[in-house]
Amino acid sequence: MNGSAASSADGWSAAERLAAAIERDGPYCVWCSREFTGLVRATREHLVPRVKGGPSVLENELAACSRCNRERGHRSPVQWLDEVAARGREPRPDVLAAGLRRLQRRIDERGGHRRIRDYLRTELRKLERRGSAAHG
Ligand SMILES: [Zn+2]
Repeated sequence: MNGSAASSADGWSAAERLAAAIERDGPYCVWCSREFTGLVRATREHLVPRVKGGPSVLENELAACSRCNRERGHRSPVQWLDEVAARGREPRPDVLAAGLRRLQRRIDERGGHRRIRDYLRTELRKLERRGSAAHG
């Protein structure tokens, strides 16, 4: 009954979703902009963490290197964006913003996921405030 972590509501495998995220956003980590080659391994990063109710669908996933993904833990995406920037990495706020809006649109269109609507709204607001604060 309950699907494994690798299966998705859309019937795509985890590997297929990772490939699609890279196709969509380019072969670069959303948190540090490193290109996925050799030692820089691409992983699926959840916009809304699974523990917060984030679904395993393409719209909730971005490609991130295994280092940034592992270090993020359960931080919210915008909080982690600020932290990696403070650590001297070069995150991709535009990719993050597009991802958050994409997930929000999916939920608006298909319903469900009531639990994460406020979370998404809050993150987008933080991101907009951050952008207009003219640092970075
Ligand atoms: Zn990274």
